[in-house]
Amino acid sequence: MRLVLLGAPGAGKGTQCKNIVAEYGLLHLSSGDILRRHRADGTELGRKAQSYMDSGALVPDEIIIEMMTEAVNQAPSAGLILDGFPRTVNQAVELDKALTGNGYAIDAVLNLKIDDSIVAGRMTGRRSCPKCGAVYHLQNLKPKVEGLCDHDGAQLVQRPDDSPKVVANRLETYHRQTEPLVEYYRNNGTVLDIEADKDPDEVKSSVFRKLQTLVRM
Ligand code: ADP
Ligand code: AMP
Repeated sequence: MRLVLLGAPGAGKGTQCKNIVAEYGLLHLSSGDILRRHRADGTELGRKAQSYMDSGALVPDEIIIEMMTEAVNQAPSAGLILDGFPRTVNQAVELDKALTGNGYAIDAVLNLKIDDSIVAGRMTGRRSCPKCGAVYHLQNLKPKVEGLCDHDGAQLVQRPDDSPKVVANRLETYHRQTEPLVEYYRNNGTVLDIEADKDPDEVKSSVFRKLQTLVRM
């Protein structure tokens, strides 16, 4: 199975990917996580991406397309779930070319639907573990001990681009550059709409219900 997860920043893509990976054994490829790893490792790619990420803009297509098609080409045949990529129609076209070249296609696009007012609060309250990448929320998904990761006890941190000013830019970027992708995929494949403004377990159930229809097809 090859899936794409679409939705505004903060819609819950990463949170739901973890559930899907646990159930279906797919490889989770998050473009944001790969970029943050490059930055932490101090690579040239990480340095090139830095100013775009910090301001809430998209990293230029040529950088992202090369980085992500390489990862897609190396993915195991069991399948993958793409989180945060593609984010422009141009990226989607290049992804289709890379998959077709390997005899594959996108089986479905999960579209997490949610209002800006809710995602803004989700982003500013997001905290993550710098060691294992686990994601929490100050109110919605609290760790067992305040400020510490449940898995390894590391001190949780806030992403610098989750500050209110950058969040506003990221939402504007999403509507202008990424939202048109929903129409692209409606014209080119299967879009499964998910109401993402529910508690995490309800969203998980509706994601699984939709994926079951796909598995039976
Ligand atoms: P994305 O990957 O789309 O940017 P995340 O999965 O990181 O979004 O979720 C953003 C924030 O919202 C995180 O702090 C997460 O714990 C929280 N969150 C995720 N899903 C829900 C939900 N259904 N209800 C409330 N909070 C959620
Ligand atoms: P995310 O973790 O998905 O919220 O992404 C964090 C930041 O990484 C975004 O605000 C962009 O600057 C950059 N980024 C991630 N994925 C892409 C992509 N597909 N295209 C361009 N920029 C991206």
